[in-house]
Parts: sequence; structure tokens; C-alpha cells
Amino acid sequence: MSLPRVHLIATGGTIAGVADDPAATTRYQAGSLAGHALLESIPEAHRAASISIAQPFNLDSKDLGPGHWLQLARDVSSALADPAVDAVVVTHGTDTLEESAFLLDRLLPPGKPVVMTCAMRPASAHSADGPLNLLHALRVAASGATREAGVVAVVNERIHAASRLRKGHSHALDAFEHGDSAIGWSDPPGLDGRPEVPARMPSLLGRLDELPRVDVLWVGAGSEPDLLAASISHGARAIVLCLPGNGSLPETWSDAVHKALACHTVVVRASRTGRGRVARQPDDGGRLFAAGRLGPAQARVALMLALAGGLAPDHFFY
Ligand code: ASP
Repeated sequence: MSLPRVHLIATGGTIAGVADDPAATTRYQAGSLAGHALLESIPEAHRAASISIAQPFNLDSKDLGPGHWLQLARDVSSALADPAVDAVVVTHGTDTLEESAFLLDRLLPPGKPVVMTCAMRPASAHSADGPLNLLHALRVAASGATREAGVVAVVNERIHAASRLRKGHSHALDAFEHGDSAIGWSDPPGLDGRPEVPARMPSLLGRLDELPRVDVLWVGAGSEPDLLAASISHGARAIVLCLPGNGSLPETWSDAVHKALACHTVVVRASRTGRGRVARQPDDGGRLFAAGRLGPAQARVALMLALAGGLAPDHFFY
């Protein structure tokens, strides 16, 4: 019987990172190894799938931006359109996996599995987590188990829904929150239930040349509201306010927010807590949006897509 055909797109990150000390887990060069080198460390992968490899870039994910996201979305989209490909696996850094995974989840067509994976320890470390994560990701992709689940991330034996991914620790091996996003396990590949899959817009990808600037402002007790005007003057078309608690706007920010709304800047309330949802408030007068279940990083990407696509600002919120 022929093996499933999986296209591996390697983009860098710690999973491709190298340090000169095998005990080093925080000091290393991310995006050092190419995709084929990652694959060489897991020869068993070839028993699960027939694998082709592409490497559009090899970067630390902190250095990615909208141009890289769109390039990646186009590369994955053309692989999915190829009848010779059954599934796609993307290796990526953990730091901004939330953004890339969210964007891919919204822009790719349903039908074939798309599995992202990453690592917290560089490839050169003793007990590196990348090889097992990649092997599991390839097996999950080859199994077809996530076909109906949208884009997923396979990390540390869990399958996470891309739409709810949150990196919640700066250096622990189990860095991704599993409360909201974990939908299954990677060994053996299987889902715990039928995950809710938010709306997708594959036709939007062809219309996107670039994404507009959207800023996230983190609001602490006593933070100065003049940050809003500064963002707008530098070209931000929408602003996500990363607010305390349940998206609570300090009184001192009200005037600045009203001025921003008056210049047609979209303003969204999100929470800096990292969990839960932020609902619209009756006294918003219908003008302030709320991020719903999206974290600030995802709300920013959602706004970029909505504004670039001429859609209502909250089109991708849920
Ligand atoms: N800085 C790395 C990256 O995001 C961190 C990681 O992959 O864990 O590329």
C-alpha cells in the first residue's frame, strides 16, 4: 500500500536551532538547520509518509511579519491544491506560532490536514523535543485524524486547535496552554471530540497583497493613553487594547479612545489575562469591538485580515 504523501514546509525556529553546548536551552541560534536535517534525525518518519520538503525561509519566528505569513499561506495553499499531496506539516518557532497558525487557519481551504509543529529546546540539546514533535506531527498529518479540525499544532504530545493556541510560558517544555486549545493527542493520533472550527475564507488569500498596520497596546495601571494617538499617527488602522481583566478600559483612556474612533480607527478590547473571553459591553454604543475568545495576538491578525479584505472588523472574532 502506498504511503500518504506529506509536504513538509520548514520555516525555522528553535526546532531548527543549534547551540555549541548540548546543555544550553536558552542560548542558541534559532533557524540554523534546514528541513532535511530535521528529517534526518527521525528516520522512522519515512515509514509513516512519503515526504517532500520546502524551505521558504529559516528564521527565528520573532523576526517574521505579515509578508512571511502571506508567503507561507500561499505555499501551503499551493501544496494543498496539488493532487500529489495528502497533507502539509509546517515547522515554525514557538514565539509567534499563535499569529501564523491563526492566519493559516482562517485562509486555507478545508479538506486536507495542515499540522504545525515547533520545539522549546534547540535541536542540539540533550533531550531535544523537536524530533518527537516533528515525528508526531508527520504521523498526525499522515493519519488524516485532523482533517475536519482546521489547522492544528502538535506540541508535546498534544494536538492544539490553531484558533485557540496560546504560548503561556517563556521557557518551560510544556509552553502552550492546554485549557482552551487542546483537542486531542498525537500518540496515537486522535481527537477527543469534534472541535468547533471557526469560519474560514480561502478566497480571501488571492485578494491580499499586504496587510495593514494594526498595533497592540498593553495597558497597565496608570499607562498613558497618548500611546493611542502615537499609533494612529504612525499609520495603525486598528488598535487592540490589551486591557486588564475582562477587557476593562481605564477611565483615563476614554477620551483618547473616542478620538481614535472619530478618526475611523478600529479599537478592540482584549484581555491581558491570557484566558477567557471578552464580550461587547452595552455602553460601548456599538463602536468598540471586543476580541471574544481571541487573545491580543490573534485579534491583531484577525483585524489585519478583515481590514485588508474589506470585511467587518469583527468578521474573524468568535
Ligand atoms: N525564538 C524561537 C522562535 O520562535 C523560539 C522557539 O521556537 O521556541 O523561533
